[in-house]
Amino acid sequence: KFYNMVEDMKGKIRVFCRIRPVNRTEAAQGGVIVVERLDDYSVAVETPRGHREFQFDKVFNAESSQEEMFQDTHRLIQSAIDGFNVCIFAYGQTGSGKTFTMVGDKEHRNPGIMPRAFTAMFDIIQDNSTRFDCKVSAYMLELYNDQLQDLLVGQAGDVPTRRVEIKRNRKGVVFAQGAETKQASSSQELFALFQQACANRHISSTKMNSESSRSHLIMGIMVESRNLTNGSVSCGKLSLVDLAGSERAAKTGAKDHQLKEANSINKSLSALGDVISALSSELPHVPYRNSKLTQVMQDSLGGNAKTLMIVNISPSEFNMEETLTSLIYATRVK
Ligand code: ADP
Ligand code: MG
Repeated sequence: KFYNMVEDMKGKIRVFCRIRPVNRTEAAQGGVIVVERLDDYSVAVETPRGHREFQFDKVFNAESSQEEMFQDTHRLIQSAIDGFNVCIFAYGQTGSGKTFTMVGDKEHRNPGIMPRAFTAMFDIIQDNSTRFDCKVSAYMLELYNDQLQDLLVGQAGDVPTRRVEIKRNRKGVVFAQGAETKQASSSQELFALFQQACANRHISSTKMNSESSRSHLIMGIMVESRNLTNGSVSCGKLSLVDLAGSERAAKTGAKDHQLKEANSINKSLSALGDVISALSSELPHVPYRNSKLTQVMQDSLGGNAKTLMIVNISPSEFNMEETLTSLIYATRVK
């Protein structure tokens, strides 16, 4: 069962859409809802120019729980242990629910995909420990203004400064050279690494006078699994990515460093869109090299990799233009 490949999703990109509840700012603006889930697979938006519908592999709405969200993600964790490269990433404007979906709420009362994945991964490993010996290690990077920062270097309190470069080894496997890779032997240890990285991310964004939502967070979890019967070894990787906010920069009042940030984010997100759309239209050339983001994610997009994109949107009229932009971006990959 351990090596029972989940074939149906191989090399395929799936897209989920999640509509978050109305928030206080939107309620204060009148709270008019213009986005609606029609069924499990479609979303409708009422725009001033008319009714529009978008199709997805699955649509979650304001009532959908974190458990429900994870149920449809769980088998991807199994795939990473089975030796696949798996990538799960959240896309959307700031405030749309990316971090809530990937990480959960700040109080850890409502954990998202990442902490659930840590637990699920070690549960699966434990259940199979008489037949397979698994080693788990992880790195955590932040990509800000085209600079990769290692979030596992240094204690909370000093800004990690080590340079990280994207390299490929002889087998074509992409790796972050210079990035600290730490072993974890339980879900608690993995969670502790994650928290250390989040603390470092917070400090580095404070020092750069930026919001953490203006950088991409990339966690790579490597699983090396040795078959105790025949000694064969397989390596899989689970990449978990909380992307920077996709909103366009405010046209007025943006300071120099904010424009630089916005340009760098736009460039990397459109490069990601180009890669995914090239993959789904099966174009012969996939433009991975156009940004650091697509380079870091390269081994988890295309080939045998299984990719899940979650597009997070607001339900409100107040955010409709950004919502439409996100939905159009997400349907480009289909
Ligand atoms: P982003 O990471 O896209 O900027 P967040 O995940 O931080 O957005 O979400 C913004 C706020 O909305 C947070 O306070 C978060 O807890 C809340 N929120 C987002 N999605 C949901 C949801 N599905 N259910 C309840 N609260 C949510
Ligand atoms: Mg966020």
